[in-house]
Amino acid sequence: IRKIGVMTSGGDSPGMNAAIRSVVRTCAFHKLECIGIYRGYQGLIEGDFKPMDARSVNNIIHKGGTILKSARSKEFRTKEGRDIAFAKAKQQGLDALVVIGGDGSFTGAMIFSEENDFPVMGIPGTIDNDIYGTSSTLGYDTALNTVVDAIDKIRDTASSHNRLFFVEVMGRDVGNIALNAGVGAGAEEILIPEENLGRDRLLESLKRSRASGKSSSIVVVAEGVETGENVFALKDYVEQNLPEYEVRVSVLGHMQRGGSPTCWDRVLASRMGVKAVESLMDGNYNNMVGIQDTKIVLCPLEKAVKGKTAIDKELIRVSDIMTT
Ligand code: ATP
Repeated sequence: IRKIGVMTSGGDSPGMNAAIRSVVRTCAFHKLECIGIYRGYQGLIEGDFKPMDARSVNNIIHKGGTILKSARSKEFRTKEGRDIAFAKAKQQGLDALVVIGGDGSFTGAMIFSEENDFPVMGIPGTIDNDIYGTSSTLGYDTALNTVVDAIDKIRDTASSHNRLFFVEVMGRDVGNIALNAGVGAGAEEILIPEENLGRDRLLESLKRSRASGKSSSIVVVAEGVETGENVFALKDYVEQNLPEYEVRVSVLGHMQRGGSPTCWDRVLASRMGVKAVESLMDGNYNNMVGIQDTKIVLCPLEKAVKGKTAIDKELIRVSDIMTT
């Protein structure tokens, strides 16, 4: 391996820049060439490349987003598109590819690698923490802190007006952000797609909490694209059944994907980038870098893509106890 391409693909997340920086600097350290590929697979197809040396990644460790930009590429989903991408990679003299992204990006990388016998390495970058083979993805910790910070602010206004707030957070079809940020922010109830509490239990819980003397409450609702509750429908339901409540909805939205990465995400990105490049140098191709029990590990890309992550049941129990 002499020349490595690095790209960010799919949804962006805080810490991606720190990971790019790490890949670039690790290449420089080992005297490998590093090529930045703009706009993910679409940039690979279009040959949107830029050589990157150690100094080209100055002053980005603290920045959210990705200096290489990210994109979703329809063309890369087709064999013709991937053939062009492979031709461009060869033309550029790339020996391997580091893809920073989510499971869709890894699926693409795997197919590309199988079709062309081309070494790839994944670094998990998504705020959702929904990737098998790593206990934490880049951007997850930052997103949790962003959500906790937002809920703290909402709590101030909720308690001034004795209101009930439903705060919708991201996470697609997993409830990791909702559960962890909910516990961290001291939410009254946390609704996640993995556990259907049922609306009636929510009503019971809200009644109980008011009877126990609480005058305002925060309920965290996971967006749950497929399985979750619609937060506005939930508001209507609660207002119909508990007319004494004044309910407000706050959908946090894309602010959760931005912002300066936390120290945890920066350190994780730095460690993952080193592992990605050095694993490619060692011939450990087609893996994803992950973290397990504080150790940086490799997980075969196929497992990372197909494996299912599980919600932390013990944390659900902790959350139940905390809302007593
Ligand atoms: P996020 O988790 O933030 O959405 P992601 O990596 O899962 O990130 P996707 O949009 O699913 O985001 O995938 C990114 C890109 O990877 C797609 O635009 C496409 O180019 C490529 N890709 C995804 N799935 C496939 C596939 N089955 N075959 C080929 N390419 C794919």
